[in-house]
Amino acid sequence: MKILIAEDDKTSRIMLESVLKKWGFTLVLACNGKEAWDIMQSKDAPKLAILDWQMPEMNGIEVCQRIREIGTSNPPYLIVLTSKDEKKDIVKALEAGANDFISKPYDAQELRARINVGKRMVKLQFNLSDAYKKLKYEAMHDLLTNIYNRRAIMELLEKEIARGKREKTGLCVGLCDLDHFKKVNDTYGHQIGDEVLIAFTRLVTDKLRLNDHVGRIGGEEFLIVASGSKGLKQDVMFERICEYVRSSEISTEKGSVPITVSIGVARYTGVENSDVLLATADTALYHAKKTGRDSVVYADNI
Ligand code: GH3
Ligand code: MG
Ligand code: MG
Ligand code: MG
Repeated sequence: MKILIAEDDKTSRIMLESVLKKWGFTLVLACNGKEAWDIMQSKDAPKLAILDWQMPEMNGIEVCQRIREIGTSNPPYLIVLTSKDEKKDIVKALEAGANDFISKPYDAQELRARINVGKRMVKLQFNLSDAYKKLKYEAMHDLLTNIYNRRAIMELLEKEIARGKREKTGLCVGLCDLDHFKKVNDTYGHQIGDEVLIAFTRLVTDKLRLNDHVGRIGGEEFLIVASGSKGLKQDVMFERICEYVRSSEISTEKGSVPITVSIGVARYTGVENSDVLLATADTALYHAKKTGRDSVVYADNI
């Protein structure tokens, strides 16, 4: 484990360094508070720091305060090591964001034990933030296709509507429904059906631009949220997806499976909420299904 030692007194720094090295830690050294602050902001910053209080350029308390101002899900463990030992100093250090406070002269065994507490806390914090990231990902993504799930794409749509209102940027939604998908399952089996759904999301993702997003909102139904310039660009994108899906046979262990998709497109005009946009796109999709499938229908043109 990597530990930062920030100590301006050379003798104390060297002593601390040799003790911690003996215990097997990798060390990063700073001779003043400014250096410590720079190191703690770096990409691969140590997760545990031992900070002297009185140092030139920036004291250890200010270093603590600055580190705590950084919003992070994985904060470092900070030990203030100082010749100050009054209650009010301990309170001040802890309030500034230190996790622990040790007075000089320190007892080596106590220091080691306290560093080990820090190590445990860092590990716990890492596991917690890792679990949180995984749960957050799972809450927002569809298990089969790994794209956004219904909740996530609808939330994204709400955000884009709010942005569209503020910035007057154009916004379209395209509701995609695979044609005769039941037949795919009936002909090739459910497992191949699943593979086709995954392959379809890859085809769509291939054609999306930077500001477009796709989510699975139901079995074989997907929602594309396309924000950006008004005008024809987005329309061309939906046509391209429709053509691309038609011309890309999906290869599976039971041979290649041809599929087509119908897309209903609704344009945001500055007043609709997400449910209204979805319902409008659904009406357009219904028309696409009624008029032969494998096509894009714009709600504006019905
Ligand atoms: P249409 O062109 O009118 O949309 O016809 P369709 O057959 O695609 O529509 P329908 O609603 O009749 O059938 C949808 C099928 O999608 C039925 C369902 O079993 C299948 N489906 C839904 N979710 C999944 C899934 O996760 N995996 C697989 N393999 N099939 C699914
Ligand atoms: Mg000092
Ligand atoms: Mg359907
Ligand atoms: Mg369908």
